[in-house]
Amino acid sequence: MAAILGTIMSKNLMPNYARQPVTFLKGEGAWLWDTEGKDYLDALSGIAVCGLGHAHPAITTAICEQADKLLHTSNLYGIAHQQSLAEALVRITGMETAFFCNSGAEANEAALKMARLYGHNQGYKKPTVIVTEGSFHGRTLATLTATGNPKVQAGFAPLLEGFVRVPYNNVQAMEKVAEQEAEIVAVLVEPVIGEGGIVIPDDDYLVKIRALCDRHNWLLMLDEIQTGMGRTGKWFAYQHTSKLPDVLTLAKSLGNGVPIGACLARGKVADILQPGTHGSTFGGNPLACRVALAVIETIERDNLVERAQVLGQHFYQGFSKALHGVAGVREIRVKGLMIGIELDKPCGELVSMALEKQLLINVAAERVIRLLPPLILSDSQANDIIDTVSQLIRDFLNI
Ligand SMILES: *Cc1c(COP(=O)(O)O)cnc(C)c1O
Repeated sequence: MAAILGTIMSKNLMPNYARQPVTFLKGEGAWLWDTEGKDYLDALSGIAVCGLGHAHPAITTAICEQADKLLHTSNLYGIAHQQSLAEALVRITGMETAFFCNSGAEANEAALKMARLYGHNQGYKKPTVIVTEGSFHGRTLATLTATGNPKVQAGFAPLLEGFVRVPYNNVQAMEKVAEQEAEIVAVLVEPVIGEGGIVIPDDDYLVKIRALCDRHNWLLMLDEIQTGMGRTGKWFAYQHTSKLPDVLTLAKSLGNGVPIGACLARGKVADILQPGTHGSTFGGNPLACRVALAVIETIERDNLVERAQVLGQHFYQGFSKALHGVAGVREIRVKGLMIGIELDKPCGELVSMALEKQLLINVAAERVIRLLPPLILSDSQANDIIDTVSQLIRDFLNI
């Protein structure tokens, strides 16, 4: 244990993470093993990253084969797997073009730069993007400015100009901004709020924002970094509607643990990033793109989008039954495999209580138990998660 704590408290690491006192050395599917050989059920997937679970054979094969051929040449040259990945993403999204980067924040940076170019092309001096309360868009200066959480911004002033914030799930507030601000160019929004505590908006929220954007010639930019790649029971959360965004950002589960982000676009901004306007040395390298292609192939071959939908219903029914009538449970919110259980008080301790029971969970927005299990979860693993989490909640609430 001392050795483990030693690595966690290492004086050579910047102390910017509050880590749990455990270190994992190996994984397989939804299982992880720590330095003591103890096994854990992973209901968090490395924060919605390992949708295919750990050490998936298709991903291991893709990594090994590509490592044996070519890792990196730069975007000074053509990259075959990058073109194939763009084609695959265009096919499953309905978008038209792709830019590749290495993280979610970078994908949103690309989106925000596109929005500014789009505004400047119309002669705007201060192109402004509408963002929402409770959102999370990343930790770079632009994306933390876009983020609707004062804790993420604290200490980093001066923040960027060109953002206006409205409450989430409130289209009227956006309409009001349209009357007050002249140089709005885009709306950037999460279709389901993730870090902010699994908040599912009204079914027609995106449709109404789409109509508003069309009316005012704004870009609809969706941050699907957490919701994308099948997690909500559709490839992308906007596909629960019949509408398309203008800009779509992805990262997290796109590479199942190999870092990759993407910013997709269509229509009037499909070709707005001309040579010299944007770039990334690592972005879209042969390894990351080959792996992302394998992720898409595997999700398709094993029907994992439908599986996420079915599992989500199973979780909803299971938790509704197990927690029925439990005072202290405010709401159970489920969209595919984005699962939030809101309690009536802060419940951060549940993370370490679950760890003791060899289960990985997360608490977001102080009082929301957040589960983001892998799409390859079995029924019995889902039942184990429902039983353990429900019992932990009862223990925590002293029932
Ligand atoms: C995780 C996340 C990001 C940031 O992604 P990074 O890869 O950590 O930069 C942005 N938006 C949403 C919705 C996220 O969940």
